[in-house]
Amino acid sequence: VSGGLTERAWVEIDRAALAHNLNQLKQLLSAKTQLMAVVKADAYGHGATMVAQTALATGAYGLCVATVEEGIQLREAGIDAPIVILGATNTPEQVRAIAHWYLQPTICTPQQALVFSDTLSRCQTPLSVHLNIDTGMSRLGMSWQQATEFVQLVQRLPHLKLASVYSHLATADSPDPTVMRLQHQRFEAAIAQLHAANIVPPCLHLANSAATLTDPALHYDWVRVGLALYGLYPAPHLHPKVNLKPVMQVKTRVTQVKTIPAGTGVSYGYTFRTQKQLRLAVVGIGYADGVPRNLSNKMTGLIRGQRVSQIGAITMDQLMLDVSNIPDLQVGEIVTLIGRDGDRQISADDWAISLNTISWEILCGFKHRLPRVVV
Ligand code: PLP
Repeated sequence: VSGGLTERAWVEIDRAALAHNLNQLKQLLSAKTQLMAVVKADAYGHGATMVAQTALATGAYGLCVATVEEGIQLREAGIDAPIVILGATNTPEQVRAIAHWYLQPTICTPQQALVFSDTLSRCQTPLSVHLNIDTGMSRLGMSWQQATEFVQLVQRLPHLKLASVYSHLATADSPDPTVMRLQHQRFEAAIAQLHAANIVPPCLHLANSAATLTDPALHYDWVRVGLALYGLYPAPHLHPKVNLKPVMQVKTRVTQVKTIPAGTGVSYGYTFRTQKQLRLAVVGIGYADGVPRNLSNKMTGLIRGQRVSQIGAITMDQLMLDVSNIPDLQVGEIVTLIGRDGDRQISADDWAISLNTISWEILCGFKHRLPRVVV
């Protein structure tokens, strides 16, 4: 790693780890199941174009994004694989952009289907659309009990081509499978109703990362994998299933080192006071980069393979470390905040546990101010 991108603070992306994770996940899938790489939210903060290119080169069939803009960004980068928009799109402007960039929308209501069909009235080729049915997530989608009428309506409407029927699981990462089993049964019931009406959807999909790791019966034709692709486990009990490697590391550099005496307050509000003389390092990353201020006095960093404690309030662009255990530390040395250094490791899960949140939110939280450096 070299050059101006790594002078202050940066996110390092391990392309080989991404390919490794995808290969691990593919081993869980039967020949009929394709992997869709979920690259919404700038590929969970990893950089959507690079992740999409790597995933497709490693055998992903297509990509899932949340918004029209995310899809366009990938098309503008020259990616021509199938791109499914998982989020809602309702306006004629969105419909026109979707058709122009041959993106594939999710349709969740009859009204939305009508807007699409009307807006596309001058289009030659029908637009591939994915119907989302709500089996218990209570987010987007038509009720699973109305799946058949919904599919029939979409099939009657001109300019729309049914590409898939899908649903999303609410509790696939829980060790208690009760709700997931119920959602699976409802999905199966909806498919049975469709078959009874002589409708065979060309493609079915239900699984996120957790469901992909949990049970092949949930795999259907596509699995939509996000978190596991990035090397994190949706839940601790899913660890033994595959060997995943974290793709993202977050690093920064020491910008000043000094010795402060006992009884000295550190940073805004003096939430930390030295008990004894202490060697302090200032580093160039803060909450405006995505290090949550709520980690103040609760996080650690790694320098030369050793663990150091963060002290005092995390500020907008800088934070302080107690580096008394590395007396000869120099300005410019690298501090790993998430990642591996020697035998030690700090993961997004460690941050998530401290903050009472989930690793998904940690990954998405790193701001664009941090350059993404692919190694
Ligand atoms: N499918 C849908 C509809 C989603 O919203 C998401 C992400 O939240 C995923 C799949 C991927 O989930 P995960 O990151 O848990 O694999």
